[in-house]
Order: sequence, then C-alpha cells, then structure tokens
Amino acid sequence: MGAVSQARDPRTERLRALPSVRVLVEAVGDRAPRWAAVEAARRLIAARRQAIVGGADEVGGDAIEGSTVIAAAQALAQVSLRPVINATGVVLHTNLGRAPLAPAAIDAVVEVARGYANLEYDVDRGARGSRHAHLAGLLRAITGAEDAVVVNNNAAATMLGLAALAAGREVIVSRGELVEIGGSFRLPDVLRMSGCRLVEVGTTNKTRLADYEAAIGPDTALLLKVHRSNFAIVGFTAEVSASELATLGRARGVASMIDLGSGALVDRAAQRALGLPEEPPVAEAVASGVDLVCFSGDKLLGGPQAGILAGDAAAIARARSHPLMRALRPDKLTIAALAATLALYRADRAGEIPVLAMLALGDGALADRAGRLKVAIGEVAGIAVEVVACTGMVGGGTLPLAELPSWAVALRRADEAGPGADAIDAALRSGAVPVIARIDDARVLLDVRTIADSDLGTVAAAVRALASG
Ligand SMILES: *Cc1c(COP(=O)(O)O)cnc(C)c1O
Repeated sequence: MGAVSQARDPRTERLRALPSVRVLVEAVGDRAPRWAAVEAARRLIAARRQAIVGGADEVGGDAIEGSTVIAAAQALAQVSLRPVINATGVVLHTNLGRAPLAPAAIDAVVEVARGYANLEYDVDRGARGSRHAHLAGLLRAITGAEDAVVVNNNAAATMLGLAALAAGREVIVSRGELVEIGGSFRLPDVLRMSGCRLVEVGTTNKTRLADYEAAIGPDTALLLKVHRSNFAIVGFTAEVSASELATLGRARGVASMIDLGSGALVDRAAQRALGLPEEPPVAEAVASGVDLVCFSGDKLLGGPQAGILAGDAAAIARARSHPLMRALRPDKLTIAALAATLALYRADRAGEIPVLAMLALGDGALADRAGRLKVAIGEVAGIAVEVVACTGMVGGGTLPLAELPSWAVALRRADEAGPGADAIDAALRSGAVPVIARIDDARVLLDVRTIADSDLGTVAAAVRALASG
C-alpha cells in the first residue's frame, strides 16, 4: 500500500486521533496508582485501535472518557480478595471462605497482627517456647484428649497423622469410607502422599469388624476410619464404630485413627438445645479410645482454617516432631483466632460463634429478618419483591442430607421491561460489596440465614440499584 491510498483510508485518521497514554494517565491523576492508570490507558487505547482496524463504526466518536479510564484503573488496583455478602443460605460455603469469625476471634487476630507476640517464646522463663503450647491446653480441656496439635487444615492433619503413624506401612480403610472432599482431597491419594499403602476392606455398604481383623498382617500400622462428611449410604448398611476399631487395634498392636471432617465441639445434648444439626462430637471420638482424631477448624467449629489432631500423647508427640510439621504449622494469626474461638467453647459461650448462631436461627427470627429486608428494599421498578420460604444447606462438605428450612426475599422479573433472574444475579454481584445469591425457578433468592442484620441495608441498596441500572 502506498502513502496515497493510506491517506484515503478514514481509519488512519481515526487511529491518529486516538489519545496518548500520557494524556489518559494525567486524566486519572491521583485517583488510582500510576501503574494501574498506565495499564488501563494502554488497554483502552488498544481495544479502541483494534475496533477501528476491524471496521467498527465511529459510534459516539473514538474518544476515551476520563471516567472510563479512572474506573478501569481503580478496578485494576483493587486487591482481589475482598468481602462479599453471602445470600446463599449455605452457612459453611467453601467458595466464600467458610466460617466468619466471632468478634473475640477477630479482636485476637488484630492484636497479634499489629505487633510482636510470644508465638514461640516462653515469657515466664525468658526462653524459647513452642507455638503449639497456645492451643494444646484448650484442646485438652474441651476434647478430653491427652494432647493435641494444630496444622493448616484438616487435609494436612490427616496427612500428618498418617505419615506419623504409618509411613511405609499398610493402612486399613473400609470401602464405604474412601471419600473425595471438595474435588482435591481424595483419601486414596492422601494416603499415598503420606507414604502409606492402602488396604481396602468390606464392601461399599457393609464393613464388619471381621473384615478389619482378617486384613491385619505383619505390615499393618493403622486402622483408619473416615466420617462420610459429604455423602450418605442408606438402606442395608453396616459399619464399625470408632471404639470397636480402637479395641481391635490395641489387641493387635496396631494404631487407630478417625478423620471426623467437621467434628462438633459441643456435645449431643447441647447440639439439640441449640437446634443444631447433629454431628459426631469430637469428645466422643476421643473417648472411643482411638489414638488420633482429626477435624477442621473452619467447619462446624466455626474458627479459622485449621486442622486439629487430638488424642494419645505419644501419637501427638510423633506428629509434632515429624519433619512435615515444619511445612504444615499454623501462623500466629491462625493460632490467635483459633485460641479465642476455643476460649468461647471453654467458657460455655459457643452461642457467640457465628456459624453456630446462624445454624441455630429459628423460623420466627428468619421470617422476621426476611420481612425487614423486604421493607428495606421497598418498591423496585420492573422487579417483584416477595418473602418466601426456602431451603438452605449447612455446606462445607458437611451434613449432605440436612436441609435447613429458611426464609428468603425472592426477586423476579415483574414485566417485560424488567431484568431476568440471570441479569439480576449478575447485577447483585457487580457492586462494591458483591451480593452472592442463588437462582431458583426463575427467581433470585436472598436467603437471610447467612445475611447478618448489619448487612441488610447493603443488600437492600444493591437491590434498589437494579432499578437505576
Ligand atoms: C472437610 C474434610 C476434610 C478436609 O478438611 P479441610 O479442613 O477442608 O482441609 C478431610 N476429611 C474429611 C472427612 C472432611 O470432611
């Protein structure tokens, strides 16, 4: 192409007229960090350039508004991890960070985050201490175990327990308990990664004590029981209790361990009194006599992400001194949050733990909250707003059959001009504080079980903004 034909192409003129990066960055000024302004300007200019070359019409001119650059720069500069409002009704939503912390736990995290702490320092002796000491006493008192140790999550606790008690040797597990949790925790793989050899016994629905007994050989190190957290077997079933396994293990000189998954720190009577769905209590598993019990810190316990190993002092000592411990140990923020949460259990103040409080919310309180949310929303053009009964879930790979009857505010397209459920759902997610809802039968449901009273105003504002958008 010669210079003459190029000059005739109107696109060349439009490309030449595009603003420079420098001009756009100046327009942003100090409203976003410089790197973000430069990146946003480059991207917007490149997009416009591509549109012109591709033959796009000059709709509204090729100008790039200052406000567009500012918004793009601010979006780039935003830290990716941020709060959202959980309007799904799933209390332990793994994608939304599982358990919100109790106020006491939040305060404890802030305290130790601000400065130095006696993480591994014994203040009384003026000498090096152990980070595990901050939690062991509380866990001993609450679970009845001889000793306990904490790692980063329950997957790590399972792995460490297996490595400490059975590396290089055989671990016997029922075929009905070879679970997969959350896509990446697959028990056979975790066993292999811990250096153990899996020996499956029984069938999918029935495993008896005799099955374990027959499988014990000279190379057997451990009998492992795994709580079926995220699925249920119904019909004709048989499984061996933790105490039967512990007794068999002791008789044959083999260790025993149970992965409880969630694990409840309150006993069955307290679970019923609080109106909680029933989960095997940790203290019961410890009392069964197995050498190790492991469970999560951020499932039903309602604390930070953590994995807890509790049980026999010698077994805990082996876990604590295992080389893997250095890679799996919790940081000071986790220890602070978990210690403060455990202190609430110790003081019979478990009702202050948000996960338990949300699960315990009764029908009247939920219906009342849904009513208040509807009133706060008021009338929204194009959208019908109504209070409806709905069903939520505990979540976090726990209690797959437990349905939580709840109340929600339902949003539905009221007329042809109004937005559909997908559009409403997307708009609610696009705000400064995204509201995560769920779609059911062409309606967007805002389940109030997981929406704190203090967030009702924010949710209502997000819904009202649908009218103007
Ligand atoms: C949830 C769960 C795990 C994994 O726990 P994380 O804390 O998520 O690592 C392991 N085993 C069982 C049985 C579980 O339910």
